[in-house]
Amino acid sequence: MEPERMLQILFSLEDASVIETVVIPSARGRTTVCVSSQVGCAMNCQFCFTGRMGLRKHLSTAEIVEQAVFARKLFSDEFGSITNVVFMGMGEPLHNVDNVIKASSIMVDEQGLQFSPRKVTVSTSGLVPEIKRFLNESNCDLAVSLNATTDEVRNWIMPINRRYNLSTLLGTLREELRLRPKSIVLFEYVMLAGVNDRSEILG
Ligand code: SF4
Repeated sequence: MEPERMLQILFSLEDASVIETVVIPSARGRTTVCVSSQVGCAMNCQFCFTGRMGLRKHLSTAEIVEQAVFARKLFSDEFGSITNVVFMGMGEPLHNVDNVIKASSIMVDEQGLQFSPRKVTVSTSGLVPEIKRFLNESNCDLAVSLNATTDEVRNWIMPINRRYNLSTLLGTLREELRLRPKSIVLFEYVMLAGVNDRSEILG
């Protein structure tokens, strides 16, 4: 099987900032566009280049939606229609929660981009109050970037854990999902050799 290839689009904004959008075709007929929600990011995750930039600015609703519109225009002939959207590009989407909720609702609206809510996923490093708000106001899926199973390791990999530790994060998710059994939360785990891949950490 041929390896999947990713295509990167660089957008230059009015203030000359540059953001990145990635299109990921898959052999299974799924084509995903990965959109950015901020220029830079304030979360400073250890494994992430964007985190080292610090936060430069939040993207507007239009700047977020335009990335999916443009990817659709540019690549539909080549790969067939874009089937999925993930908010996993530059930035912590829930740090820009107002514009991300608006952009994701335009993406799934009948008058908008008409994606199924099950095909639009917003990822977060774990901003607990904004997670509650997102689950309350959006019908799109949520993904939580977990990357560790202990506070000791997660505090180091993802400094946001010092504000909202694993017990607070997972407790909130359990509570919110009990209230909304139809909501879906996915967990992401980047394996870092010698840091979070030891069997005593993975359990
Ligand atoms: S939240 Fe995402 S973009 Fe921000 S530093 Fe962490 S991994 Fe990078």
